[in-house]
Amino acid sequence: MENCLFCKIAAGEIPSSKVYEDDRVLAFRDIAPQAPVHILVIPKRHIPSVGAVTEENSGLAAACLEAVARIAAQEHLDGGFRLISNCGPDAGQTVPHLHFHILAGRNMGETLV
Ligand code: 5GP
Ligand code: ZN
Repeated sequence: MENCLFCKIAAGEIPSSKVYEDDRVLAFRDIAPQAPVHILVIPKRHIPSVGAVTEENSGLAAACLEAVARIAAQEHLDGGFRLISNCGPDAGQTVPHLHFHILAGRNMGETLV
């Protein structure tokens, strides 16, 4: 999709600090980390958000979750991690391309689930 930041990152047109890649999924470090480990997991194909997951594209969302589990093992997130996907303005979604935040490396506390 034209003018989508994460489509450009997926296409390699904008550089990123890559953590994981397979044929359907890319994961890279967030440019403004909110925890010692802050990784974004995206499908390479454009889906606007979790709110746009359908029977037709849910395989890509599942591929992202499989990647999350692989990344957790690869990055030795043995203390656990928080997985967040903001959907829409009230949630604070700023990039309209489906992504999962993996946050780890500190205690997340008990606020916001
Ligand atoms: P959202 O607010 O949509 O849930 O998350 C978007 C995330 O993308 C933010 O945490 C923000 O720091 C990150 N981000 C925005 N622009 C870039 C970029 O150019 N490169 C990387 N690696 N992360 C970005
Ligand atoms: Zn996109």
